[in-house]
Amino acid sequence: MIDPLNDLPAVTSPLPWHAHQWGKLNDQLQDGQLPHALLLDGVQYSGKSHLALSLARLLLCAQPEGGLNCGRCHACELSARGNHGDFRWVQPEAKSRVIKIDQIRDVVRFSNMTASFGLRKVMVLVPADSMNVSAFNALLKTLEEPAIGTYIILVCHRMNNVPATIRSRCQILRLRAPSVIDACQWLDKATGSRQESEKLLAMAEGRPLLAQQLFEGGGVEEFAARNFGLQALLAGRITVPQAVALWADADTAAFLDEIAVDLQRLLRSLSSEQLKSKPARIAFGLSDELAQLKGAVSAGANPNKQLLLDALLSKFSRELGAVLLDGNIVGQRGEDVL
Ligand SMILES: [Zn+2]
Repeated sequence: MIDPLNDLPAVTSPLPWHAHQWGKLNDQLQDGQLPHALLLDGVQYSGKSHLALSLARLLLCAQPEGGLNCGRCHACELSARGNHGDFRWVQPEAKSRVIKIDQIRDVVRFSNMTASFGLRKVMVLVPADSMNVSAFNALLKTLEEPAIGTYIILVCHRMNNVPATIRSRCQILRLRAPSVIDACQWLDKATGSRQESEKLLAMAEGRPLLAQQLFEGGGVEEFAARNFGLQALLAGRITVPQAVALWADADTAAFLDEIAVDLQRLLRSLSSEQLKSKPARIAFGLSDELAQLKGAVSAGANPNKQLLLDALLSKFSRELGAVLLDGNIVGQRGEDVL
């Protein structure tokens, strides 16, 4: 996640694969048609927050150049340091996974204040789909009757979690993850190696900012081991305690996400005949269960991670492992990793 309170470069430009949408936003802005509420939707780690930050800084800049913030005016200096008085970047507070209603009340108060520079006020909420119903309701009136010169940008990973009443008051931008080539070209600048970029991008399931995070933050080997950890468990190559240990340092949302990705990868590898089989039906059921758990955690549930990991992986092993092995469905994948 972007931390806008850290030192930013003088100019913030969107990622290359968002050039088309960026051009359209610029056209709307120049024509005075930019809506006051925007909802950016797309997969996590594909650069939506970056687009939101670029737009926020452009809106605040006193002398934009070439469709970007200038990087030199006083407003740009302040927004680079994250202390521009007309800018709010709202994200879950430390150790929380949700934007709380108190934070939304602040946003509402802020939207009713006069802009200090007399230009515009910008609020970015990320991830907006982490709010609960009360928080959404608190925001509704601000979206319905925005103060002049006020812009609200909602960034969300799962638009299904955003109520229709909110969606209908926003211009929605659906942002796709980039092609492998576009993502690799961008990643190459960090890795310096196309081979490395391709490997990281594959591990990150095509999500370039996660690939970048893996490159910069290290932990690639642990991630690779976890990447096929579920399948190794189902194939009987590792035990439940060994599988639990793989996710010992990951937080609950991360391990649910990674197990879900691994399960989806397994389902995608099945033939159409296998997809009708009993193991596939069980796998789909477990996939639904994981989605529900992920939804609950992103809405603020905080189950004991160790107990949940143990229970889930035991269940996967018990219900799915044996039938998959009997059906000769798992056995190959991941052997090179574990
Ligand atoms: Zn500027």
